[in-house]
Amino acid sequence: MNEFEIIARDSESRARAGLLQTAHGDIETPVFMPVGTLGTVKSLTPEELLEAGARIILGNTYHLYLRPGCEVIGQFSGLHRFMNWKRAILTDSGGFQVFSLAKLSKTSEDGVTFQSHIDGSAHLLTPEKSVEIQLCLGSDIIMCLDQCIPYPAERGAVREALALTTRWAGRCKEFRDRHTRGKDLLFGIVQGGMFNDLRSESVAELAEIGFHGYAVGGLSVGEPKDVMLEIAAATLPQLPGEKPKYIMGVGTPADLVNLVDLGADMFDCVMPTRNARNGQLFTGCGAINISNACFKQDIEPVESGCRCYTCRNYSKAYLRHLFLAKELLAYRLNTIHNVHFYLDLMKRMRAAICAGEFETFKKNFFSDQI
Ligand SMILES: [Zn+2]
Repeated sequence: MNEFEIIARDSESRARAGLLQTAHGDIETPVFMPVGTLGTVKSLTPEELLEAGARIILGNTYHLYLRPGCEVIGQFSGLHRFMNWKRAILTDSGGFQVFSLAKLSKTSEDGVTFQSHIDGSAHLLTPEKSVEIQLCLGSDIIMCLDQCIPYPAERGAVREALALTTRWAGRCKEFRDRHTRGKDLLFGIVQGGMFNDLRSESVAELAEIGFHGYAVGGLSVGEPKDVMLEIAAATLPQLPGEKPKYIMGVGTPADLVNLVDLGADMFDCVMPTRNARNGQLFTGCGAINISNACFKQDIEPVESGCRCYTCRNYSKAYLRHLFLAKELLAYRLNTIHNVHFYLDLMKRMRAAICAGEFETFKKNFFSDQI
C-alpha cells in the first residue's frame, strides 16, 4: 500500500502537493506540524488547534518517557486519548533531546546512556527502546533514533555518526516490523552534517533499508542560512521521490517557502509557539514585536484579513497591554495567531501548487516581506 500520493507538481520548481494517509486521518502536504513537546501545544486546546487547521502535531519521546512515563500514557492506549487529540501525531525519537538536554549522555553502539534532566536518574535509550516508547505513545509517524552531532563538526566525526545512524535505523526498522500494530509509519533520518557527499551516502543507505518517509535531520543547528538551504537543495532531490520528505526543526516562514520550493513536504518548528510567548507575531509583511511602543494605541488587529480568533476579536493595543502586563491570555492569543499564520501559509502554498501558481505565490510572498 502506498500511503503517500502526490496530487500536483509545480512545473518550475520541485514543489509538490500530496496526501499522506495515517491511522488518524489524511494529511494534506506541504504540512507544518505544531510542536506539542509535553503532550500539549503550549497554551492551546485541541479544539483551537483544529480550528487553526492542524491535522498533525508533534509529540516528544524524551520528555513523555521521563514524565509522565509510558505506564501512565499506556493506560490511555496512547497519547491521542491522554491529551484528547484525535488527529495524527508524529513523535521524534528522543535522540535530539538526549544530546541537547540530558546530562552526561554517552553514545555507544548499543544506544545512548543519559541522566534525566529532571531527577538525574540514569537511562539507556537504544533504537529498539525508542521505537518501543513511540509504539506505546500510539504514534502515527515514528522516527528512527539517530545520532545528532553539533555544528560545526569534523568530517570524521560526522561520518562516524552517520554510519551509526544507519545501523540504528536498520535496528529501528527490524523492531518496528516485529511489533507494529500495522498502521504506524516509520521514517528514517538523513544525517551527514554540512557535507553534501556524506548526506548522499546517508540517503543511499537509508533508501536501501526502506522507510515510509525520510527526514533530513541536523539542519538549523547554528549553520548559516545559505548553508542550510544548500544542503537541503542537494539532499532533497536524492530522497525517494514517491515518499514524504520532512525537514526537521526548521524554520521561519521564508524558510518554509524556500524549502517547499526545493521539494520538502513536512516541517516542524517551535518558532510560531515559542516566539508567540516572547511577543513576536508573524504577518505577511514579516514579524512584529508586540511590545513595541508603536503599537500602544494601535486599534487594528495583528493582521487585517487574518481569520484567526485573535485577529477577529482583538487589537494590537490590547495584545501589547496583555503582553507587557504578563497576563496569561497574552500567550494564548499570540500563539493562536502564530499557529494559524503558519498553517495558513502552508495551505496557501498547497493551493498555489495545485493551481499551477506557485511561482507567482513565491514572488508575492518575498516582495511583501519588509
Ligand atoms: Zn491572526
